[in-house]
Amino acid sequence: MNQGKLLYAGKAKSVYRTDTKETLIVDFRDDITAFDGGKKDTLKNKGSYNAGVSAFFFEYLEKHGVKTHYLKMLDNNRMAVRTLSMIPLEVIVRNVAAGSIVRNYPFKEGMKLNPPVIVIDFKDDSRHDPMLNDDLIIALNLATPQELRTIKKISLEINRLLSALLAKQGILLVDFKIEFGRQGKTIRLGDEISMDSMRLWDKKTKESLDKDVYRFNKGDVMATYNSVAHRITGAVARPAAGAKKKPGAEQKEGQTSLRRAAKPKAEKR
Ligand code: 5GP
Repeated sequence: MNQGKLLYAGKAKSVYRTDTKETLIVDFRDDITAFDGGKKDTLKNKGSYNAGVSAFFFEYLEKHGVKTHYLKMLDNNRMAVRTLSMIPLEVIVRNVAAGSIVRNYPFKEGMKLNPPVIVIDFKDDSRHDPMLNDDLIIALNLATPQELRTIKKISLEINRLLSALLAKQGILLVDFKIEFGRQGKTIRLGDEISMDSMRLWDKKTKESLDKDVYRFNKGDVMATYNSVAHRITGAVARPAAGAKKKPGAEQKEGQTSLRRAAKPKAEKR
């Protein structure tokens, strides 16, 4: 698979064309940002941890019937994906009150949200991703009522699957943000699911295991990403220093930058 022209560069990922129209390459860069890009850094290996965890979740979700854009990993940082027409919605599923809903509404941090709360934001950096409601989504023609129902149903299913998977590793899935796209009439999960887009707490200590460590200077970000990535995937070793991109040396389907143990503990079925 040949990497073609840069199609889009986001804050932490770049998307490239390939020689086939139906396939794109997502490059998980080592950049990390917070507060609308107000805080920025480049952290060695960060991209490979997020790519590895995303690939692991996409494969797991596909195995459980959730349609995603994931095809395979090409190397530690680059993921081949199906081309989607992205829907500019940020779907956030919340199991525990934290972050912006604690700032904006009278929820106490740590309060259980049962049933989970879905919040949908308009993906538009220039407007600071304002929160939408169903009527606004329809009026803005961002999704049809049927698509919106499907998106919510898939989001809750992803929440159910990932909450259970992470719980087996002693991790509480507090909340996460996902994005969807259309492939013809099919809605597929796109973008990523990683430490950058989830809020994860250690079940026992309630310690943050995600980008909040970076946002709020809670400790060593890379030590956290390294340890949580291995905890999630059941991997056995951290990627060798400098083992970044080897264009041409494509990985086999399902192989990620994080070398996995024979079978991740949480995947016992
Ligand atoms: P909050 O609304 O509390 O800031 O975020 C809720 C959840 O969605 C968190 O897990 C957060 O990481 C994720 N999230 C919200 N907005 C974004 C975004 O623009 N990019 C990423 N990667 N994650 C986001």
